[in-house]
Amino acid sequence: MPQYQAPLTDFAFLLNDWLQIDEHYQRINAAGMDSELALEVLNQGAKFAEGEIAPLNQSGDEQGCRLVDGNVATPDGFAAAYHTYIANGWNAMLGDPNYDGQDLPYSIAIPVHEMLNSANLSWRLTTMLTESTVLALTKHASQALKDIYLAKVISGEWTGTMNLTEPHAGTDLSLLSTKADPNDDGSYAITGNKIFITAGDQDWTNNIVHLVLARLPNAPAGVKGISLFLVPKFMVNADGSLGAKNSVSVGSIEHKMGIKGSPTCVMNYDDAIGYLVGEENAGLACMFTMMNDARFQVGLQGLGIAEASYQGALTYAVERLQSRAPQGIQAPEQKADPIVFQPDVRRMLLTQRALTEGSRALSMLYAKFMDIEKYTDGEEQAHADHVIAYLTPVCKAFFTDMATEVSNYGIQVYGGHGYIREWGMEQLVRDTRIAQIYEGTNGIQAADLIGRKLTRSNGTMMQATHDVFTDIANNITVAANQQQAHALLAEWHNLSQALLEANAEHCAAVACDYLNYVSYTLIGVLWLSMLDTLPNTANRAYAKGKIKTGEFYLSNLLPRAQLHKQAVEQGANAVNATELSDFIG
Ligand SMILES: Cc1cc2nc3c(=O)[nH]c(=O)nc-3n(C[C@H](O)[C@H](O)[C@H](O)COP(=O)(O)OP(=O)(O)OC[C@H]3O[C@@H](n4cnc5c(N)ncnc54)[C@H](O)[C@@H]3O)c2cc1C
Repeated sequence: MPQYQAPLTDFAFLLNDWLQIDEHYQRINAAGMDSELALEVLNQGAKFAEGEIAPLNQSGDEQGCRLVDGNVATPDGFAAAYHTYIANGWNAMLGDPNYDGQDLPYSIAIPVHEMLNSANLSWRLTTMLTESTVLALTKHASQALKDIYLAKVISGEWTGTMNLTEPHAGTDLSLLSTKADPNDDGSYAITGNKIFITAGDQDWTNNIVHLVLARLPNAPAGVKGISLFLVPKFMVNADGSLGAKNSVSVGSIEHKMGIKGSPTCVMNYDDAIGYLVGEENAGLACMFTMMNDARFQVGLQGLGIAEASYQGALTYAVERLQSRAPQGIQAPEQKADPIVFQPDVRRMLLTQRALTEGSRALSMLYAKFMDIEKYTDGEEQAHADHVIAYLTPVCKAFFTDMATEVSNYGIQVYGGHGYIREWGMEQLVRDTRIAQIYEGTNGIQAADLIGRKLTRSNGTMMQATHDVFTDIANNITVAANQQQAHALLAEWHNLSQALLEANAEHCAAVACDYLNYVSYTLIGVLWLSMLDTLPNTANRAYAKGKIKTGEFYLSNLLPRAQLHKQAVEQGANAVNATELSDFIG
């Protein structure tokens, strides 16, 4: 298994040199926050990720989860690591201080989250959904519910889950049929079956807060008739102590391709007692608070796995001796040279690194706008909202698609050894694959980008994002690079404007290509910006390799944007001309 080492040098560059985080915190009045604190938290986060959960990644995959007398048993060591995690306050990083949260900026929390994903995605998933539960409760729950549940979910004393999916209702939540019947005391009786529920049960905490979508009697059909309910695993007494077990049970644990250390559960709700969160029939909007957070976080899962795979591949490429290098013998004392001297192996490593570090730059820019959204108000906050809305599907889909490519290269660099389990490289491919599917498949992210975010906002969200990238381009000091950045941004603007005129069928056919075009283009601008900063970076050895990685991105990967652009402009007809009989005739 590759030994994970958190990319602290890269984070320090992004925070200090590139984002100039001290000025950012001052500008948004993030009291008490500075780069020293940020880097100290990241150092401690790295220690936890490297030392506590990375060592459990492979054993968790081998052991998996079991159902014992109706209760989930997670892999050895997972519960103990969780208890260390919450004891050290990691779960509370982003929580509301009124409920004992630490209220840290996203620019500090997001790098820690990436590290947790690299170290052990199965383990991380439960904490990720707990944080999303915190957000949904903070924004939508009544004061009475907050007083009972919020502090415990923020601290991690209890975990949270997200219950949308049913056997016949996945992408299309309008089809969901779980019922919520009002009880006399103001609570509801929840009945139905949910599938694929991450951490539907675990042996880490003595209670679990399930957020469940269900329908009230006589609710309108479709998504306008869905409400959100909080359903505790154990009832909670007025004094906060636990009461009787609620009528919610685990039917089974799914057997799956990857993330085997994460219990994915079939959940049965049988007149379980639940409490309304938000307004009746407005549940989907409340759930979207949770889902938008989770969508970006799933993108970070891809980013974390890509980093882990790159590190594993690099270590192996430096050690593995095969063949002589075409540029001449590199290790005369050996019978062969390390494979890192093969240009094709370096191409694979550069592809891994350029995609991973370009995506990390985008994730940290996203974090900056999450900070702005959190600490400012009025127009500035509304602008940040638009930027976040546009970039969320981009980060979710692009980071997870690229992680599948990057982790497959991880196997390829190892040759046959990559395909063998003991090295851990194939686990990374299996673990990251789900991230392209859950929290809305990447096809749905693309539809969200081109539909809700581009055309339905009449270009407003794209324009807000364009303004941000124009500022970034304006700050590039090398004239040719600045010109290239502006040309990329003009092209993106024009392509987006043209799509505002296209019909829905056309947009649906080219949505994935548009998302990929946008991703490669925006990350291209970010590489141009980083290339401008790197010559002034104190750590010269790091800057030297990163500059070459950026140049590789611009020459070898950015051209992919043009293929996607061509498909956006010319590809819809070829898709939409097909009929069912063309496939099965
Ligand atoms: C390991 C795991 C963990 C999960 N965790 C959770 C969880 O915690 N909570 C939860 O509620 N769910 C969870 N899910 C469910 C997950 O979110 C769904 O599987 C996912 O949303 C897709 O739904 P589906 O599987 O029913 O596929 P379908 O909706 O049947 O989709 C099948 C294919 O059709 C495409 N498609 C469908 N409709 C459209 C459309 N309108 N436009 C374009 N393409 C379309 C999809 O993109 C996909 O390629 C989990 C799933 C897994 C496997």
